[in-house]
This record gives sequence, C-alpha cells and structure tokens, in this order.
Amino acid sequence: MTDFFNSVFTRLKKPSIILTVVSQIGALLILCGVRIDENLLMTATAMICSILCTLGILNSTAPADETMLVCSESGEPKAHVMIAGQMVCKNCGAVYVAPEDEETDEKG
Ligand SMILES: [Zn+2]
Repeated sequence: MTDFFNSVFTRLKKPSIILTVVSQIGALLILCGVRIDENLLMTATAMICSILCTLGILNSTAPADETMLVCSESGEPKAHVMIAGQMVCKNCGAVYVAPEDEETDEKG
C-alpha cells in the first residue's frame, strides 16, 4: 500500500501529470454543471506548477511521460507531453498534429 502512495506521489511531482489531472477534474466539474473558467483554471495551474518547479518542489526535468515528436509548429523533433488528451509541444505549446502521409523509411 505504501508503494502505491509512493508511486502516486512520485507521479504528482511532475507538472505534466498535475496539469492533466487538474484539466480532467475541471472537465468533470463542468460536466457536472459547475461553472468554472477552464482557461483560467489551466493558466493558474500552469503558473503554480511553474513557481513550484522554480522552488524545486516539482521536478520539471522528469523525463517520464515525455515523447519526442516532430513539432507541428517548428517542424523539429521536440519533447511533447500529454495535456488534456492531446500531445502538446513543451517548447512552443503547439498541439501535435500527426502528419497525413508518413514517410517512415526516410533516414538522414
Ligand atoms: Zn513546438
């Protein structure tokens, strides 16, 4: 049981996890008819996470749950994190869009 809480606690030290959890709770509250500003909620959460990262309470460099994807904005491979069911570029915040025609056998 302690292992379970340790694992949950470790996950909650990652800003991407907190953002996902908060956005899901926000969506759930909206679904239940609670009137909240989702934009305000997410912006405030991101700001708080940023402050906690700066203070060293959250681990912003945690590599888990990050995926290298080609950014739809810059066209360069960047770390993406799952936020509200979408892969979002950590570099510029662009939502990842899967390319339509895949050329997977292209090598540099
Ligand atoms: Zn980007």
